[in-house]
Parts: sequence; structure tokens; C-alpha cells
Amino acid sequence: MIVEKNLENLSKCLCMKCPSYTNHCKLKNAPQNFIKLMKNFDNTEHYEKMFCAYEKSDCIFEANGCLCATCEVFKNYNLKSQNYCLHTGGLA
Ligand code: SF4
Ligand code: SF4
Repeated sequence: MIVEKNLENLSKCLCMKCPSYTNHCKLKNAPQNFIKLMKNFDNTEHYEKMFCAYEKSDCIFEANGCLCATCEVFKNYNLKSQNYCLHTGGLA
């Protein structure tokens, strides 16, 4: 099922609390994430959060745990994979 790129889902995404999302990436991505959010983020092809709806991250390269299985979006869309930040579409 395709995850809708909307604000409701974005607000439920746990990626920013995830140990795989490093502080370096948080600092690096914050300005672009904010600009895209202000501009209509659902039309952007790349976003550094809610990776189950977008493609993989350009900044996260190492798995240090994944919170997806505890996320409401994961449950609502019956997702099965994890680590969507490392691989577009997630890893089994
Ligand atoms: S399932 Fe994972 S990537 Fe998708 S919104 Fe939840 S925490 Fe973010
Ligand atoms: S997709 Fe999973 S591993 Fe990647 S940042 Fe989100 S919760 Fe963490």
C-alpha cells in the first residue's frame, strides 16, 4: 500500500526519534526539511523523514535500530518492512 504524503502521516512519523537518524543528519536536514514543508512537501520527490512514503535517505547509511514497527503509519498502512531510510521500499 502506498503511504500518502500528508501532514497527518508526517506528524506520526518516528524517524526523528530513531537512533539511526544521527544528530549530524538532523542538523544537516533541518533547513531543507523545513523549506520543503513550507512549500508543499507532498509534491517533493525527496524528503528526509517518513522514508516509507519517500525514497531512502541521502544521509543515513547505517542501521542502528528502527522504530517503524511501533509507528502508527506502519500499522495504518499495513507495512511489512523496516529501515526505509536505508533502502527505498524498506528492507525485510
Ligand atoms: S513507518 Fe517508519 S518511515 Fe514510515 S512514518 Fe513511521 S517511522 Fe516514519
Ligand atoms: S526508517 Fe526506520 S531506521 Fe530509518 S530513520 Fe525511520 S525509524 Fe529509523
